[in-house]
Amino acid sequence: MFDARAEAVNLSTPIESTIRWLRERSPALPLRHRLSWWWVPARCACCGQRGDLGAIDLCAACLAEFPFRPPPEAPADPALPLVAFAYEDPVGSGLRALKYRGDLRPARLLGTLLAAHAAQSGAALPQLLVPVPLHPSRLGERGFNQSEQLARHAAAWLALPVASHLLRRCRATVPQAGLEAAARVRNVAGAFVPAPGAANWLAARRIRRVALLDDVLTTGATVRAAAAALQGCGLEDCRIWAVAQVRGPVGEAPPLEMSE
Ligand SMILES: [Zn+2]
Repeated sequence: MFDARAEAVNLSTPIESTIRWLRERSPALPLRHRLSWWWVPARCACCGQRGDLGAIDLCAACLAEFPFRPPPEAPADPALPLVAFAYEDPVGSGLRALKYRGDLRPARLLGTLLAAHAAQSGAALPQLLVPVPLHPSRLGERGFNQSEQLARHAAAWLALPVASHLLRRCRATVPQAGLEAAARVRNVAGAFVPAPGAANWLAARRIRRVALLDDVLTTGATVRAAAAALQGCGLEDCRIWAVAQVRGPVGEAPPLEMSE
């Protein structure tokens, strides 16, 4: 499944450890996933060459160009969001293709890399992944929830379940794009509620630790509002996971393309 091209690039942490994790973990993927890669061999989403990292649409040389965030201080602070990348290309362009052009391939790639980051972070893994929900009107327009797509691929690599039914977005908010930090918090306050029976569903399965997964963090106002709603279901821990975080001073208005 692999060739020697990965060895030809200058492998350094976290790239080296990501490649090692992908290679070790590939054989443990569910059979359905492994068969899909056998039928349609991996092709690098960035350069178009045959992928050399196994069950992921990427080559080692292009992985080395990804905007990895520096590894967290050990031990990682569990209160901080777990974020794999800075919001820079090719991660930013991949997320925009997913959200605004309906290209689902970046979800497979970026969900996998988020799983690799989480597995190597040293933090305890959650028992369940919960994607940040979209309001039904936005879901109807887009046809899918980008966070759910990312979560399904991350979950396959981590052997975790995904629960999309626990949280509801009960209020359509104006797009966060262009709002200052304080306005973003007001905009999403009360926008999420647990689904009826969510607390009982979690208790019956003894689930106390979940990760709430979003595609991009800007000020984090949206995902914190969602986490606050989930915390009311008796969880011990609800950590925030995201593929990328926008750089910039806290409170600075994010780029206009960052609407949800
Ligand atoms: Zn490539």
